[in-house]
This record gives sequence, C-alpha cells and structure tokens, in this order.
Amino acid sequence: MSDREFDSALDRGEGADVDLDSALQLFYGADRPERAERLFEAAARVRDENVGRRLTLSAHLHMVTRCELSASCRYCSLSSTIPSVSNERSPLTLREMLTGVRYAVDRGVRSVVLVGGTDLGGSDERVREVVSRIREVTDLDLAIDVGPSLSDATVRWLGRQGVDPIYCSMETIDPVAFADAKPGDDLEARLRFMRRVEESGGHLGNIVMNGLGGPESLLRTVLASRQFPHTSHLHISTFHPVPGTPWARRRAASVRSSLKTLAIARLAFPSLQLGLAEVGVENPRDLASVPSQLRAGGGNTIAAVLVYKHQGSTTATGFGLTRLRPALRFLSRCRWGHPGARPEQRPVSVPSLTAPPKIPRDKGKDRRSPAKYGINATWAHLATPRTSESAARRTERSRRDSPR
Ligand code: SF4
Repeated sequence: MSDREFDSALDRGEGADVDLDSALQLFYGADRPERAERLFEAAARVRDENVGRRLTLSAHLHMVTRCELSASCRYCSLSSTIPSVSNERSPLTLREMLTGVRYAVDRGVRSVVLVGGTDLGGSDERVREVVSRIREVTDLDLAIDVGPSLSDATVRWLGRQGVDPIYCSMETIDPVAFADAKPGDDLEARLRFMRRVEESGGHLGNIVMNGLGGPESLLRTVLASRQFPHTSHLHISTFHPVPGTPWARRRAASVRSSLKTLAIARLAFPSLQLGLAEVGVENPRDLASVPSQLRAGGGNTIAAVLVYKHQGSTTATGFGLTRLRPALRFLSRCRWGHPGARPEQRPVSVPSLTAPPKIPRDKGKDRRSPAKYGINATWAHLATPRTSESAARRTERSRRDSPR
C-alpha cells in the first residue's frame, strides 16, 4: 500500500469516517512501524479530544453466575481438562464477592464488573440477588457481563439499580467462526439480547476477540457495533491458549494486532470507553499493556483488580494505583514513545507481583485514600469517593431517565 493511500485512510479516520475498506488499509498499512506510530498518535489525539485523560480503575469479579453452556467455549478455561485451571471459573459465594468488592475499594477502584457465565435458560434470580447484596455495601459503579442470560424485566430492574453498562460479548460477528469457537453458544441469541438492552434504554458493553478469524473478520465485528448505538464500552480481547483446553495448541493472537484494532476502533468510535480486555492483573508483565493501550487511543478504564477462585480458595489480585504509577510515569516520560518501537516490547518498569495475595481479612488495614496514591499528573485525575448523596442522585436520575 502506498503512503498516499494510508494517509488518505488516516485523514478519513480522524474525521470518524471509517468503513471496512479504510479500516483494512489502516490495519495492514500500520505493519510499518512509522505508520503504526502515526495511527496510534491519531487515535490518542481523538481520545484526548473526546473523552480526555480521566483514568478510572475497575475490578472484575469472576464468576458471579455459573456457566451452563452444554459445550464450553473451546478457548475458555472451563473447557480445560486440568482441574486447577477449570476451577478458576468456579462461582464465588456472596460473601466472597462482598469481600472482593471491599478489597477493590481499598485499591482506589471506582467501578466493578460482575462477570458470570452464560445460561441461555436465564440467570435472573441469581443476578438480582448478587446485585442487591452488593448494592447494600457499596455505591460503586456496577456493570454486569453474563451474556444473553437475562429477561427484559431483569434488564429494566438492573437499569433502576444503576447497573450500567450491561455487557454481552459478540466475540465475532462471523457465524462460522463463532460456532467453531463457541459450540454451545448462540450468536443470534446474543444479538437479540443486545437489541433488547438497546430497547430498554440502557448502555451496552461489548467484547470482540482477536483470534477468531482473520483481520477482516475482526474489523467487521468491531464496526458491527454501529448496529448498537447505545454501546458505551467496547473491548478487544486477544486470544491466548489456555492449558488443557481444546485450543491449547492454537497459536496466540498478537497483542500488536489488537492494539492496531483498538486504534482503528478509536477513530471509528471517538467517544466510547475502549481498551484491551485482558485483565492485566492476572499476569504482572501484562501491566506493560496499560501504557501501550493508552498510547493506542484506549481509555479510560483500566482493569486493576481481579477476584476469582484459585486452587479452591478465593483470591484477589490487583495492582491498584501504587503499582500502576510506574507504568504511567513511563508513559508521561516518553511522551507517547519513540517512533519505530513496538509498543508491547517497550521496557516498562513494573513492580513484580509474586503469588496472588489472599483477600485480606482485616478490612481496616491499607485504607489509603486515593489522593495519597498520587499518580503522575499526566494521568492524574482520580475520582473522589462518591458520597451517598451523589449515589442517591444517580439512582434517581436512572429512574427518571429510564423509559421502563
Ligand atoms: S460463555 Fe464464557 S464462561 Fe461460558 S464457556 Fe464461554 S467463555 Fe467460558
């Protein structure tokens, strides 16, 4: 591809004019490092103009509901023949969830995503119970991701509880690739559910997976978000093989191609919350992906805490703001990096996390205020703790705005 064609696609992209052809031109054109830098710079500029640099840390609670698919997804740890791997997707008890939420609050987290499995028969009762109990102890922003497992009544109920967005991962819009990766799942049911969330007036979260089909299929899936104008969050996950699963020997997708896709998504959807879906806290080295995705136009929610079952007990792992700070300092120092370097290979000073710490029993310890973490000024905006008054206002607003 000529420089002229790439420049033309990039110019169009900066005006939010991205179709499949220009997305492919940007994707393949950015194989050259200097073009990748320009793509990332353009995406970061668009991000800065539309959503700014306010950074919010989120926590993920895995799993709040059991996955009932009769054949597990081929990439999912649930399909692993190794018990210690598949057990990591065992559901948390309510008590474990509440302890995990408190752990997250202590680390400056402002939003919690309740992640569960898919039950095409419906998870309404369990989801209502979980949300009600968590709402009793915190007014943090809540989002939920249990696939197409909820009735219309529960979708409306979640809206009244201020649970927003409601995720339903499309993964891929390609029916053949979907059936291959997710033999027990139903793409049409997912798309129908996403439409129902839209009709309810709520916001929608979506995750697409890099590694199911080629770049064209991936970009087509990203652009399919246009069918859902209420989408507020879009994440790109990168397939990596999990031991013991049917896809254990499949080649991992490249983080770099996920970053290029992220940048193209930023041009196509200037004001969405966009990012890589990896929960970096699972692997301390993945902290390197934080500055990389911010450089590539991602933002502005970073997964900082993961609560899950680990070898039979509940484990919380997270880097919070203190551990994120060196990565952000690096980002600021290098002023978005130097041309030519591969983002995922940049040296980032990351403090090592050893074995994931158990959830602390003493809730009173290590309660530093967010201000004391003091992250670098470039990305310094931290949400101040929300008062119960503002939580009440939020709930009232959600009731008022809801057409339910
Ligand atoms: S729907 Fe989610 S939890 Fe269930 S098997 Fe697939 S990836 Fe795993």
